Amino acid sequence: MKYYVLFGPPGAGKGTFAKMLVENKGYYHISTGDLLRKEIAEGTPLGMQAKDLIEKGNLVPDEVVCGMIRQQFDSNPDVRGFLLDGFPRTVAQAIALDEMLTDMGEELTRVVSIHITDEEVRRRIKGRALVENRADDADDDIITTRIRNYHEKTEPVIQYYKAHDKYFEVEAHGTIDENYAKVSALID
Ligand code: AMP
Repeated sequence: MKYYVLFGPPGAGKGTFAKMLVENKGYYHISTGDLLRKEIAEGTPLGMQAKDLIEKGNLVPDEVVCGMIRQQFDSNPDVRGFLLDGFPRTVAQAIALDEMLTDMGEELTRVVSIHITDEEVRRRIKGRALVENRADDADDDIITTRIRNYHEKTEPVIQYYKAHDKYFEVEAHGTIDENYAKVSALID
């Protein structure tokens, strides 16, 4: 089974490329952000716990997202592989993912990291806010918090994967199709 991580700051295009890869290559897409928004929409206890954190641009606890990932692995045994989008977002999550995969007799295939600048992050998130109606995309202060959290908590994950020889990075300053071609070339 293949396990890919699509890595990058908010607004890098992880979700967009994941959807294109699902269509073109038949992988199963797991977005922790989408799963959390679904929990919120359904008003579950987990959703209620996550709502305030997400609306302020903060991360939800590692145990919560790790549990959701494991549940997705367990309930989709027949797919050809997984595309993880928005996970891991902390080194603790990356370690937990490795432990989960080892426990399943599997290993991570590779991390495809989509690089854009902070200015591009801001511009793209604000563009997306107009289309997707996400409260965490619409507010400048919340975007600033998310960018700060990305640098402080998520960026250290890059070193973790470089040290494990799993890390591949693409510069995504072109059109969607140009950027997708670079991402797709790194995925079987
Ligand atoms: P996304 O749709 O990936 O931008 O995620 C939206 C929000 O959900 C993030 O800003 C976080 O508050 C929360 N979230 C999603 N994935 C994770 C994760 N792996 N760890 C912690 N929080 C997450």
